[in-house]
Parts: sequence; C-alpha cells; structure tokens
Amino acid sequence: MYDVERIRADFPILSREVNGKPLVYLDNGASAQKPRVVIDAITKAYSQEYANVHRGLHYLSNLATDHYENVRGIIARFLGAPDPEEIVFTSGTTEGINLVSYAWAAPRLTAGDEIVLSVLEHHANIVPWHFLRERQGAVLKWVEPEADGSLDPQKVIDAIGPRTKLVAVTQMSNVTGALVDVAAICRGAHDRGVPVLVDGSQGAVHRPVSIPAIGCDFYAITGHKLYGPSGSGAIWIARERMAEMRPFLGGGDMIRDVGRDTVTYADPPMRFEAGTPGIVQQIGFGAALEYLMALGMENVAAHEADLRDYAMARFKGLNWLNIQGTSPGKGAIFSLTLDGAAHAHDISTVLDKKGVAVRAGTHCAMPLMEHLGVTATCRASFGLYNTRAEVDRLVEALELCHELFG
Ligand code: PLP
Repeated sequence: MYDVERIRADFPILSREVNGKPLVYLDNGASAQKPRVVIDAITKAYSQEYANVHRGLHYLSNLATDHYENVRGIIARFLGAPDPEEIVFTSGTTEGINLVSYAWAAPRLTAGDEIVLSVLEHHANIVPWHFLRERQGAVLKWVEPEADGSLDPQKVIDAIGPRTKLVAVTQMSNVTGALVDVAAICRGAHDRGVPVLVDGSQGAVHRPVSIPAIGCDFYAITGHKLYGPSGSGAIWIARERMAEMRPFLGGGDMIRDVGRDTVTYADPPMRFEAGTPGIVQQIGFGAALEYLMALGMENVAAHEADLRDYAMARFKGLNWLNIQGTSPGKGAIFSLTLDGAAHAHDISTVLDKKGVAVRAGTHCAMPLMEHLGVTATCRASFGLYNTRAEVDRLVEALELCHELFG
C-alpha cells in the first residue's frame, strides 16, 4: 500500500514552512526534493568514505571506487538495461545529449543531413543539435504536436527521410506532461535504419522504464529530478553506438596510454568519463534510485495518476483557468495560464506567498511556447510525495489569483 504520509516523512524539507505556510512543493519538474537516505548517503560518503576514485591503491580510494562503480549497476537495473557497461555517468541529461551530439552525431553528419526533433523538446535536446546546424549545416526537421499537446509517433516516423541521421525526442514533455510513445518511434525509425535518442529526464521520473521495451539507442536521465543530487546523471548507450563514438572530453581516467605523440583511450564507458567525476553525487544518485525501486515505480505512477485525475477534476470548475495540453494519460504536470492580464510571474509570486512553489516562465522550451501561443506559463509539477490536499491548496491559491487579477 502506497502510504504517502509515511513517504513524506522521508523528505525532511517537506515539513518546513515557507512564508508562514506549510510548504506545498510543486516544482518537481525543475528539481525534486531529496529523501533522508540520499542525504545520509552523501553525508556518509564525505564524512567516512571519501577519496578520489579509480586512481589510488589505498583503502579509501578502493572503497569510494566500489561504491561509485556500484551505481552503474543500480542505474542499469532502474532502466531495465542488461549491461552496466552501457551506462555512461554524466552530470545530467544536458551533458548526456551534448556527448551524443559531439561524439556520435558530429563525425557522421555532412551539410544537408537531418535530425528529426519534436516541438515538445527541452532546450537540452535542441541546442546541441543547433550546434550541428550552425557548424556543419545539419537540418533540423521539426514535428508539430497535436491540438491536445500529444505527439503522433507516425508523424515523427513520416518526418524521417533518406538524409535523416538521428531522431531525438522526449519521452514526456516537461511543460505539459504529454507522454510520447517512444517505443513506436524507435520501431519506425529502426525500420528506416535511423537511431533514436530518447530524453528520459521527465519520463523516467514518473513511470517504470524498460530500455529493451523502448528499443532506443540513447536514453538520457538526470539525477536531481529522480530525487538524487544535482550534478548526477547518466546516459544509456547501446553498445554498437558506443563503439561508433569518438571521445568527447579529454583528460585523466579516459585514457589507456599517453605519450608525447600518441594517445590511446580506455574502453567504453570510461572512455567518455574524463577527469574526476561527481563521485559523491553519483553515490547519492544510487541511493535515490534504490529508494525509488523500493517504492516501486508502478506505485509511484499510480499515485501520480490519481493526483493528475484529482487535479483535472478540481480545475474543471475554474472556467478562467487554461491548461496547456490535456492529452489522455499525460503526467501530473500542468502548465497554467489565467484569463486576463496576469503574467505567470505574478501568479507564481502570489502562489509563493501561500507557500505553494511552482515554476513560471518558458521552462526551457521556447519552440513549444511559441507553438502554444503563450509567452510564459505557470507550471505545477507533482511528484511522488504530493497529496490531494496539496492540489486543494494550489486551487485555493489560484482562486486568490483570479480574485486579484481576474
Ligand atoms: N530534458 C527535459 C525534458 C527536462 O525537463 C530537463 C530539465 O528540466 C532537461 C532535459 C535538462 O536536464 P538537466 O538540466 O538536469 O541537464
């Protein structure tokens, strides 16, 4: 049984007040709060078990290396990926996608080659491809979402042409919560011989992930949205694709031999992990993923589906409230605007005064904002510890905004 009150007790920050009101934290889409097990793992790693990894022959270095390397297996298990060697540690999704852009895509693109993207993408899955457009003449082919905010997988597949080198698509919109059938996209793209990168930054947070079931080539995740530390993350890369990649960052740890006129590289995945990594961040990330697996991602998904349905039912009565994207089965992420002149920043300031933390702005998704015809929205994004009572608090605060600005 999913006991949300017991789960809330695992997150120390949730018991604090903000502006004299109990905190209602609805900014999980930006970054999630951390359970005690993650905070404890970080504290223990720094206070008892810290040293640099891979290099020393002393006790603490070996211990830190074991704990750090162990996380590769935890991430693989969380993603249902059979081989931990296909996990590359990163500082987050942004680094993971830049790695693919630089190390895999750049060497195989010539002017006029295409990358297929959707308009739902976060800037982290846009700007690395713009680099290739600016520097190498790559063409970005954009697929528009449907009126309800969903993405038709067939439209993505139909956008693939003879010059398409990669499809790069999100599993879940960070703005609207729209879920994308990435497995269908992968099947269609692979039938045409085109690899697929999936941005799992949001998708992996809200439901179980199985890499074999998705069938992608690259799957990027970010630790801080998965209740882990900032600066942690990973990208899963299919072995065949890893073998095609040139190194990205150069430095210690990613080499086998360095001479004055020669250099040879470590085997993947370490070939793509130069320099001292986020040792403690990744150890904390491992603790977060163990926590999520103990809760069961299917239970998290069911809890959040209940919150989504409850919120949708509560929003229905508010005829001055606009929800951007209402596709069936979407995640519990709501981008809201109010009729009238109120700017998203004003709304979020009023909500903050009521202790309700949301995000206002363009959510690093400017092409989607343009498509929706809005300059900014107020985003309430729910996580595994939110409650129906918090939906009520959000609605009360929105009603106050309507009174003030409506
Ligand atoms: N992709 C999506 C869908 C996101 O929501 C985010 C973060 O907001 C990112 C990518 C980038 O993640 P990070 O900033 O952790 O690299």
